Amino acid sequence: MNESVAIVSGGSRGLGLAIVRRLLELDYRVATFSRSRTPEIDQLSRQDGVRERFDYESLDAKDTNALTKFVERVSEHFGRIDVLVNNAAIAHDGVLAMATDEEIERMIDINLKASLVLAKECVRVMLVQQTGHIVNISSIIGQRGFSGLAAYAATKAGIDGMTRALARELGGRQIRVNAIAPGYLETEMSHGLSSDQHAQIVRRTPLGRLGRVDDIVPWLEFLLSDSSGFATGQVITVDGGATL
Ligand code: NAP
Repeated sequence: MNESVAIVSGGSRGLGLAIVRRLLELDYRVATFSRSRTPEIDQLSRQDGVRERFDYESLDAKDTNALTKFVERVSEHFGRIDVLVNNAAIAHDGVLAMATDEEIERMIDINLKASLVLAKECVRVMLVQQTGHIVNISSIIGQRGFSGLAAYAATKAGIDGMTRALARELGGRQIRVNAIAPGYLETEMSHGLSSDQHAQIVRRTPLGRLGRVDDIVPWLEFLLSDSSGFATGQVITVDGGATL
C-alpha cells in the first residue's frame, strides 16, 4: 500500500484530472481543488476504493488564504504531504496592448503566486518529513514566447525560475523540485485556438500533432520515482519536438 499523499492543483479536468487519476491508480492519497466541480470529480468522490483516498475542494487559487487553509486541512487529514503538483493555470489569448491590468494580475495570481504559496505551505510539511517532491507544470511558451501570450509566457518563465531556485534551496533536505514544459495539448485550454493556429502548430511540430495528457503523465510518474533520484531543478520539455 502506497501511503504517499499528493496535492494536485486544478485537478477537475484536462492534465490535472489525468494526473489525479494516475496517482489514484498508483494508490496515492490525492487532494485537489478547482473553482467548479465536474462530473469526473463527482465520480471519483463516489468510487469504491477511491473515495476514502480522495479529497476535493472547490476554491479559487486567487484566494491565498484559502490555499493555505487547504494545505493545512490536507496535512491534518492525511497526516503528511509527499507531492505537490502545481498544475492549475489560465491562459488568455490577446495582444498585451489590449489587456486590462485586472487580466494581467489574475494571470499572475493564479499561474504564479498561487504556485509559490502552495509550494511554501507544502514545503513547511516536507521539511519536517525531510522528503518530498514538487513538480511544476510549465509550458514551452515560457521558453519561446508566442504572440498574444505575453502575460502567460511571463508566468511560465517565472515557474521555471522558481523551479531552479527552490531546487537549490531544498536539495539538502532531499526535497526535489522539477518542472514539465508541455507543448500545446488537446485540452480545454487550447480550444480557443483558431484552425489556422492549430494547423501552424501541427506544421511546426516534428511529430505532427498536438500533445495529449497521456504524453505528459508518464514524465510526472518518472520524476516522482527513484529512477530520477539524481534530477532536481530541471524543466523537462515534452512537445513533440516543437521547440527544437
Ligand atoms: P485546463 O483544461 O484549462 O484545466 C485547468 C485546471 O485548472 C482546471 O481544473 C481548472 O478548474 C483549474 N483552475 C483554473 N483556474 C483556477 C483557479 N482560479 N482556481 C482554482 N483552479 C483553477 O488546462 P490544461 O490544459 O489541463 O492545463 C494544465 C496545465 O498545463 C496548466 O499549467 C497549463 O498552463 C499547462 N499547459 C497547458 C497546455 C495546453 O495546450 N493545454 C500547454 C502547455 C502547458 P476551474 O476552471 O473549475 O477552476
